[in-house]
Amino acid sequence: MPSASPDRALVLLSGGQDSTTCLAWALARFGEVETVGFDYGQRHAVELACRDAVRRELARSDWPWPGRLGADHLLALPTLGEVSSSALTAEVAIAVAANGLPTTFVPGRNLVFLAFAAALAYRRGCRRIVLGVCETDYSGYPDCRDDTIKAMQVALNLGLETRLVLETPLMRVDKAGTFALAQELGGERLVALVVEETHTCYLGDRSRRHDWGYGCGTCPACELRGAGFRRWREGSG
Ligand code: ZN
Repeated sequence: MPSASPDRALVLLSGGQDSTTCLAWALARFGEVETVGFDYGQRHAVELACRDAVRRELARSDWPWPGRLGADHLLALPTLGEVSSSALTAEVAIAVAANGLPTTFVPGRNLVFLAFAAALAYRRGCRRIVLGVCETDYSGYPDCRDDTIKAMQVALNLGLETRLVLETPLMRVDKAGTFALAQELGGERLVALVVEETHTCYLGDRSRRHDWGYGCGTCPACELRGAGFRRWREGSG
C-alpha cells in the first residue's frame, strides 16, 4: 500500500463556481493541492478555459495559501461523450426528460470521474479527493448524492486497497451558501474571482455579463447561480 499523505489533496476542477470554491477550500486546509480536469467533449468547453484562469489567480502569492497549489492534470475522456447523448455533449435541447432528470444529465459522469481521480490520487500520494457535488440545489443527479459518494469511497478503497477520503464541502450547501463560503475563504476578492473567471452556463455563453457572472441568463444553471447570488447578497446585507 502506498503512503498517501493526509495533507495532500486532489481537487476536481471544472472551472465552474462550485469546483473553484472547493479548490479555495482545499487550499485553505491542506499543504499540497493538485487539480484534475476532464475533457469529455462537453459543449461548454469554455469551462475548461476558465480552469487555467482560476488556477493562475489562486496561485498568486498574496492569498492566505501561498505555495500550496501544485500540478494540474487534464485527462481526455472522449469515450464518456461517445456513450452519452446528453444536452451537455450534443445538440440536445435542455429540458426535463420523461424520467424526470434534466437532459443535462450525463449518466454516471461522477462515477467515471472519481475512478480516474482515485487512480491519479493513488499515483500522486494524495489521501484526499475534493469534489463540488451538492444535493441541496437539487437537480436530480443521482451521482451527486451523499449516499452515492459514500458508496463510491468504499468501493474505491476496497479496489485500490487504500484509505482515500472523498471530501464534499458543498454537499449540503446551496448556491447562496457557496457564495458565502467563497467570501469566508477569500473575502470579496475571491467572490470577484468566482464572478469574473468561473463558468456555469450550459450554453457556454460568455458574451453577457450579469452581477453574478457570465452566461445566457436563462438556462437552468444560470438561473440557479443568479438566484443564489441574489439570496446571498440580500442575506449578507
Ligand atoms: Zn446559461
